[in-house]
Amino acid sequence: MRKSSGRDDFRKSRQQLALSAASQIALSLASLQMRETLREQSIRDPLTHLFNRRFLQESLERELQLASRKNQAISVLFLDLDHFKRFNDTFGHDAGDMVLQSLADLFRNFFRATDICCRYGGEEFAIIMPESNAQDAAVRANALRSEVKALQLQYKRQTVGTLTVSIGVAAFPEHGSSAEDLLEIADQCLYKSKTSGRDMVTVATPQNA
Ligand code: GH3
Ligand code: MG
Ligand code: MG
Repeated sequence: MRKSSGRDDFRKSRQQLALSAASQIALSLASLQMRETLREQSIRDPLTHLFNRRFLQESLERELQLASRKNQAISVLFLDLDHFKRFNDTFGHDAGDMVLQSLADLFRNFFRATDICCRYGGEEFAIIMPESNAQDAAVRANALRSEVKALQLQYKRQTVGTLTVSIGVAAFPEHGSSAEDLLEIADQCLYKSKTSGRDMVTVATPQNA
């Protein structure tokens, strides 16, 4: 009788130990998951799930260091939707949000997994293309421009109008060597695309550098 009760006690205490270990593991997993969610929230834009501006700046600095060590090029694309205010006014803000999400989906399919696509703010995006010189980036930027123009998006079963984007391209080491310079030059080129009529790609020249 006493023997069996001793075995029961032993079994019970083993069960308790297993339960407490399992709940500790569950807690640790939940905490890891929470940490990962918080990290994702801190580096991504909630609407498009693209990376945010802060992440872009940090990544560009890191990629520039890598590229410089490996003697490789990097291109930066700055992109802005044309006449997006007019689009919102015509189709509504929700349709505008859908456009931003569709554009982000297009980027995810269009660019390499190693390229870094960011929502810079509003209807502006920046893409870092490691191992890509200005010439390659210009070809890709023009292909992207054509794909955006060919998109046939629908909102609530209504086809929304044609969208176009203006793009600026700057590359390391041709046009600049710091993240700040490259972003500024790409932005100047984007501005040039805007003032030259939009739906256009402008690549930096040695004069921009
Ligand atoms: P441009 O061709 O010169 O770039 O003209 P634009 O109308 O695109 O530029 P502007 O800077 O005048 O307007 C930007 C518009 O982008 C206005 C703003 O409502 C819209 N926008 C910015 N962020 C969002 C967003 O998260 N959702 C929606 N729907 N619209 C947004
Ligand atoms: Mg715009
Ligand atoms: Mg803008």
